[in-house]
Amino acid sequence: ERMMEIRRLNCNPMTMKVTSYKKPVFVHQGFMQWLWDVDGKRYLDLFAGVATVSVGHCHPKVTAAAEHQLRRLWHTTNIYIFPTLHEYCEKLASHLPDPLKVVYLTNSGSEANDLAMLMARLHTGNFDIITFRGSYHGGSLQTMGLTSNAAYKYPIANGLGCTNTMCPDVFGGPWGGSHCRDSPVQTIRDCGCAQDQCMAHDQYIGQLKETFATSVPSQIAAFFGEPIQGVGGAVQYPKNYLKEAYKLVRERGGVCIADEVQTGFGRTGTHFWGFQGHDVIPDMVTMAKGIGNGFPMGAVVTTPEIAASFAKGVHFNTFGGNPVACAVASSVLDTIKEDGTQQISLNVGTYLMMEMAKLRDKYEIIGDVRGKGLQIGVEMVKDKASRDPLPPESIAEIFEDIKDMGVLIGKGGVYGQTFHIKPPMCITMEDADFFLAVFNKAIHNYMERR
Ligand code: PMP
Repeated sequence: ERMMEIRRLNCNPMTMKVTSYKKPVFVHQGFMQWLWDVDGKRYLDLFAGVATVSVGHCHPKVTAAAEHQLRRLWHTTNIYIFPTLHEYCEKLASHLPDPLKVVYLTNSGSEANDLAMLMARLHTGNFDIITFRGSYHGGSLQTMGLTSNAAYKYPIANGLGCTNTMCPDVFGGPWGGSHCRDSPVQTIRDCGCAQDQCMAHDQYIGQLKETFATSVPSQIAAFFGEPIQGVGGAVQYPKNYLKEAYKLVRERGGVCIADEVQTGFGRTGTHFWGFQGHDVIPDMVTMAKGIGNGFPMGAVVTTPEIAASFAKGVHFNTFGGNPVACAVASSVLDTIKEDGTQQISLNVGTYLMMEMAKLRDKYEIIGDVRGKGLQIGVEMVKDKASRDPLPPESIAEIFEDIKDMGVLIGKGGVYGQTFHIKPPMCITMEDADFFLAVFNKAIHNYMERR
């Protein structure tokens, strides 16, 4: 009855305009990779609340850890010392290579990135922060400025919120609705391949050097890079691209920050952290989403040196390091290991990529299948020759059909043309086969209707 009432009111103030359905899903319950709506219909969840439910909805072990902590202590702040917090920080740091050992806990990815921006500026004494085109780093005022993806920027006057001093709008330039879309560093749209012999690699690295030489200031505070772009559409960099970017940034006195909000905690399958697939060690790693399996949490992990520069001020965050969040996150780390979720990411992810590539070859409108592990992007195009994005109405149609057949996926990409598959990392090969059949049917239905 209550749900009927909400349905009548048609008021869901939190519904995301960019990614939601025409006929919304009224989610009622979840378990592992499954969600149920209020009518009892079951969905295979391949979006995991935007790559967030890492080990499974209401995972029994994580739920038990939360319940245990809820009965013992809810809140203290970091004014006091409590073992859950300290044990967790130590456990988290043990998952990172030296010298990344100092942990700051926040409540979200945006907060973590905000904090990392502050730390970078304090540590280097520089101001400019650069990122890749198509990136997403958060929805707070600072991180919205850092984000390149135009879809997530609000039209506010004079570039307020844009922390990129190279953006013309910071100096009062014209407002074009695509604020700061052309961030100074280029990303790759066409070549996401990780093969050594790909000819495009050298070409792109050449372009990267050229961009740095012509448009990046001689002194910068930081560079933020997602090891694989998430919201931007599972965009991957060619081999050695990130490594070269790190070198160029460090030459300008900047620190390198890996935004692992989507790629962390084993999602890429091959490594626990996305940056490990690029043969680099960042100066700071920011994380959220999968850290808490859906419980609000985020973190910045950095070096003792950067932490020392930051210690000159007073840092306080009421909820950062909340005892329940720490208990949950600690259990998530254990569960990743015990359930072998990183291996699942690798096995099921590789299988999905392989089978999706067959569908790409079968259908003219599947332009590209890319990603790693269980972070997969399927780019939809009008046709393979033009590579023009499939229009939003068509994307919405296919998206809705897939949902009606019982599978939830995501959509995004710079032009809204990429389907996202980022499920809880407990899915099975059978789930993958179910999705493949549904996806095939949805594309088939779409082509039939044309
Ligand atoms: N960085 C990346 C790479 C993200 O994908 C997101 C969220 N989509 C954020 C930062 C911001 O995280 P939050 O929504 O928790 O603030």
